[in-house]
Amino acid sequence: MNLTGLIKSAGGRILLQLMAAIILIVTLNPLRAVTAPYPELVLLFPYLLLGTVLLLSQLFNQLRTGFLAVLMLLAYAIIQLRLQQPLPEANTRFAYQLLALMMPLNLLLVLAWPARRLLSPGGFGFLLFIGLQLVAGYWLTGTIQPEQLLSWRETYLMTPGELTPLPILLLLLGLVAICGAALVMSYRNTGADMAALTCLIATELTLVYFQESMISSLAFSLCGVLLIINLIYRSHELAFIDSLTQIPGRRALENEMKHLGRHYALAMMDVDHFKKFNDTYGHKMGDDVLRLMGKLMQDYAGKARVYRYGGEEFTMLFKGQDARASEDHLNEFREAVADYPLAIRDEDRDKDDQKGKQRRGTKSKVKTVNVTISIGVADYQDGKTPQEVMKVADELLYKAKKAGRNCVVTS
Ligand code: GH3
Ligand code: MG
Ligand code: MG
Repeated sequence: MNLTGLIKSAGGRILLQLMAAIILIVTLNPLRAVTAPYPELVLLFPYLLLGTVLLLSQLFNQLRTGFLAVLMLLAYAIIQLRLQQPLPEANTRFAYQLLALMMPLNLLLVLAWPARRLLSPGGFGFLLFIGLQLVAGYWLTGTIQPEQLLSWRETYLMTPGELTPLPILLLLLGLVAICGAALVMSYRNTGADMAALTCLIATELTLVYFQESMISSLAFSLCGVLLIINLIYRSHELAFIDSLTQIPGRRALENEMKHLGRHYALAMMDVDHFKKFNDTYGHKMGDDVLRLMGKLMQDYAGKARVYRYGGEEFTMLFKGQDARASEDHLNEFREAVADYPLAIRDEDRDKDDQKGKQRRGTKSKVKTVNVTISIGVADYQDGKTPQEVMKVADELLYKAKKAGRNCVVTS
């Protein structure tokens, strides 16, 4: 798998996050040495970075990341303003434990909460919920009796010796929350899932290594940086990746066409009789075909770049290669599409659920159909702009259609 593939896959993203956390712990001493001359700045950094995340999240419509940023800002403020006394002090220790209990739960809750703007009724609802927790936490830490805390400490809040001040049960809660977020991430792989995982790792890292000086500033700063990168990356994806096929769209192609050299071939391809396919099997099934096209294109692209030009038209760009050389490649892809058996959904099943269930129980034969594509591929020619080369490829595609479809026509 190449680097782009690694960054795009959920597994790769989880791995990179864990690596960032490990690197932070391993380089903690040098980091502290480097940042020691600017203590105030280091304290301020998480506020600045997480504040930026909050702002960008609203601008880029990544609304759950906004909720996460609010939680992280509050947690950091609590750590800085309330938890800087020595932890052996019973009420301080209790506030620390309360934070360790509530943060993972709240961070996970963001993934289940509907995505809303912060300044909207739904957003206010969430802020109110957090506010109530803060008031309750403040009241509890102020009124709880030290003897009560001592008895809890012996029964529920045992720590794993000198390793960390975090009680075993809360450590387990944090680990379960991280695994939960990683699991959600591997299913959905959305920007919010990734951001929640980043926040959970940064929070648990801080809580586990709480006795290390500056750990909260460094871990929360790292969290802020990762959240900003995630926001920018996701917005880039929104702008350039086609949401149906998950391959780059026309805007990405137009961008790429500005930087083409003098040696390339450009292939235009179009699904045959797609209107009829939609009319026969439904638009949903048509969408499935387009998704399949995106997947097969990526599988068969090799070094070529692939794009959804629009509708049922796609483009392959072969840099440093001429049309003749790309022809075999394109024929291989064309055959792969034509040979792919598409299972047809039985629409009756949805209409009559009861009957459907019965039929699904008995192994009915799955009906399959095939679709074909036609391809025109043109070379760069002296003096021609990429748009003119594309026009030639389009004319060749038209020839392929006239020649009976399911074929490649080369310049
Ligand atoms: P030809 O072999 O000549 O290309 O015939 P065709 O029917 O594929 O050509 P035409 O351009 O007339 O039809 C294209 C169809 O593609 C029309 C439209 O319904 C369908 N289409 C375009 N975009 C989408 C989409 O995003 N989803 C689905 N399901 N269909 C789409
Ligand atoms: Mg078309
Ligand atoms: Mg077509």
